[in-house]
Amino acid sequence: NFILAIESSCDETSASIIVDGKVLNNIVATQSVHEKYGGVVPELASRAHQENLIPVVQEAVLSAGITVDQLAAVAFTRGPGLMGSLLVGVSFAKALAFARKIPLIEVNHMQAHILAHFIDDPKPSFPFICLTVSGGHTQLVLVKGYLEMEVIGETQDDAVGEAFDKTAKLLGLPYPGGPLIDKYAKEGNPKAFKFPVTRMPGLNYSFSGIKTAVLYFLRDQLQENPKFIEENLADLCASIQFTLIEMLQIKLKEAVKQYGVKEIAIAGGVSANSGLRNTLQELAEKKGWKLYIPKFEYCTDNAAMIAMAAYYKFLAKDFSSYDVTPLAKMKI
Ligand code: ATP
Ligand code: MG
Ligand code: FE
Repeated sequence: NFILAIESSCDETSASIIVDGKVLNNIVATQSVHEKYGGVVPELASRAHQENLIPVVQEAVLSAGITVDQLAAVAFTRGPGLMGSLLVGVSFAKALAFARKIPLIEVNHMQAHILAHFIDDPKPSFPFICLTVSGGHTQLVLVKGYLEMEVIGETQDDAVGEAFDKTAKLLGLPYPGGPLIDKYAKEGNPKAFKFPVTRMPGLNYSFSGIKTAVLYFLRDQLQENPKFIEENLADLCASIQFTLIEMLQIKLKEAVKQYGVKEIAIAGGVSANSGLRNTLQELAEKKGWKLYIPKFEYCTDNAAMIAMAAYYKFLAKDFSSYDVTPLAKMKI
């Protein structure tokens, strides 16, 4: 049973083919038009999806060595995401499923980020705690089964990926700044500058304070030394990254304590961050956790994770009707 999966929630157009739980490919077209605007421009994103979707699907089908009439189902990201971007994927999936008279499978993008852990070995066992850290979300999720998940904590304002990108912008770095902060942080001292660690009640997060803290700090320093950023870029990046990782791990440790679960996973674009990976690896060794980190290509938006989620829904015969509509906001 070949399933075609499509991802178009933000600024990556992606298609993947899965058969019997095995992902055959993961074709991703990343949109570069947004770089010069310092962030994703929704109208440009949906337009680029329209241009990229058919070539990306064609490549996925071709490289899987199949034809469209061999597909058993079509899966797509229903939400959460940008409405205009989602619409492109949803409309395409509906049209194809309807034309081929095959089932349509809707996938929750945030569930899919977590199910990326089931693409390759080693796979976490249930229940596990997943720290999902992406451009739009920061969540602690108790994962009880493939399609049975409970959010036990989440950010009350900005996502951690947003905090990376917005502070990077203050440093004059292009969008998306997260990977660049990661790169420069490697040569910097994480204790060089101190930024406040925000502590929210329960297992919740808040990441909006750091951009204000960095903004005022830079304003003061630049008044005395206009070259402050370029002279201290590595230390600034290392210190910002250190603060964000501190906040992430404090609540993760609390969640582990509360739920008594030692299978830990991370998911989402920010799980590509090498500082976060290293810190959690050390923590896992110290605390006796089993830590699962996805391959880089499955951290950021991709259709392979959508395909994985679709596979479990296919097994459960959990299909959508042909008049399904996208959801910009969608709970796990
Ligand atoms: P969501 O999944 O919440 O809808 P999204 O799909 O935009 O949001 P992802 O594609 O999963 O998010 O992740 C993108 C985010 O990951 C961006 O904020 C980007 O800066 C960040 N990111 C990617 N690589 C790194 C890295 N090495 N270090 C820090 N942040 C990173
Ligand atoms: Mg993206
Ligand atoms: Fe995502």
